Amino acid sequence: MTHSNFAGFGLADTLVRSLADAGFTKPTPIQEKAIPAQMAGRDLLGIAQTGSGKTAAFSLPILTALMKREGKRASRSVGALILAPTRELAVQINDMIRTYVGRGHLSSVLVLGGMSRQSQINKLARGADVVVATPGRLADLLDERKLRLDLTQHLVLDEADRMLDMGFIAPIRKIASACAQDRQTVMFSATMPPEIAKLAASLLNDPVRVEVAPQGTTVDAIEQKIILSGSKLKRSVLNGLLEDEGLSRVIVFARTKHGADKVAKGLDLDGHKVAAIHGNKSQNARQSALRSFRDGHVRLLVATDIAARGIDVPDISHVINYDLPDEAENYVHRIGRTGRNGATGLAISLVDGSELKKLRDVEKLIRKTLPRSGSLPEGAGTETAGAGAPSRRRPGNGQKRPVSGRRRDASADAPVFGEKADRPSGQPNRHHPASGKGPNRNGARKPRWSTARKQNAAGRRGKRSGAA
Ligand code: AMP
Repeated sequence: MTHSNFAGFGLADTLVRSLADAGFTKPTPIQEKAIPAQMAGRDLLGIAQTGSGKTAAFSLPILTALMKREGKRASRSVGALILAPTRELAVQINDMIRTYVGRGHLSSVLVLGGMSRQSQINKLARGADVVVATPGRLADLLDERKLRLDLTQHLVLDEADRMLDMGFIAPIRKIASACAQDRQTVMFSATMPPEIAKLAASLLNDPVRVEVAPQGTTVDAIEQKIILSGSKLKRSVLNGLLEDEGLSRVIVFARTKHGADKVAKGLDLDGHKVAAIHGNKSQNARQSALRSFRDGHVRLLVATDIAARGIDVPDISHVINYDLPDEAENYVHRIGRTGRNGATGLAISLVDGSELKKLRDVEKLIRKTLPRSGSLPEGAGTETAGAGAPSRRRPGNGQKRPVSGRRRDASADAPVFGEKADRPSGQPNRHHPASGKGPNRNGARKPRWSTARKQNAAGRRGKRSGAA
């Protein structure tokens, strides 16, 4: 049975009204499949990509059940528990739930590490209809008996594969076993590695399995490209790409926290407005970085995988992988930040010689060979810019626009970056290694940050975002 609108699912009227107010007229494919199964009381195993509408899919049936329930909630008890891998995702889920509940009478409490314990404990003391939590803090408070889960009839594990990567399996098992035996359990994951299948088998009771796209496939609307580059040239490549204003809202992924800081610092020195988000930042700094990115105050957000997980910022035009992730699955998550809600998006990965194996792993997972441009320094690897087109960059003239969302020909031998033919000021690109003006004059192939710093000192003043 398919539903062309939300009214046919038997959801609470309040929720259907809120959905209409939010402009959600048509259920997404995952919602079409998951909502009826959950409304029928079944456990659910959902394999869905980011941006598929999975949050509404799992929360609407639960909210309907909670709204129908009568009587007061016992102190310290929890009606529905939703576990998410990161604080950002938990905050986002909670925000969505609040939107759906609207003026309805349901309480929701966030339980997150890195935030005041006492205010969470105080809220839990009264009992909560919904708790959205990261597993570590929740397990701690459970140990300390600040909440009880024996009356919890709904348990959701969102982005389960990510929770596995983050080492949350032990707390998850402990939390699940503290929930009511006859609870409904829902698990969502973008990928289904064997450990997740095992966890699902142990926690879910005869689940309905819903999948909106085969495992590991990437959203079709996202165009993907590889730029081969020596590792030391990546900064220049990135600068070249960013000259194109078509890259209007960009997440730049780095593999490590240190790497993210370094990339953000380089971008800042090069005169870009940038915010950074990673696990070493305080929760407040993470939220404010995210806010300035979401509100358009900064065009660039540099992020690590963990911090970026679940970020739902509309209209991200490009995802740039400054490094490829260690786990191929994370590539799918990263690029899923763009191309959301049916929009188009472009994902560009800068790949150096040490990352060719990771690139092969990604291509195996997504079952696609990605178009390449650029080239690697001699001896760094055997790959070049595609069939018979090694495309070594030639300095200076004739270089065209960088790859961008506006230029989607994906030709294998496209120039990596360079002077824009239509550079408005007529100034050379000082970040271009071959410009003769910039960090790489004298033929040095390595960007010299100290030079860039001097050159950008003036432009930098007043431009610094503070978050990076
Ligand atoms: P999610 O996959 O849950 O992170 O959702 C991705 C985005 O889709 C969020 O911004 C939701 O608010 C939005 N969304 C969810 N369901 C619908 C729908 N039926 N129609 C339009 N947008 C939706």
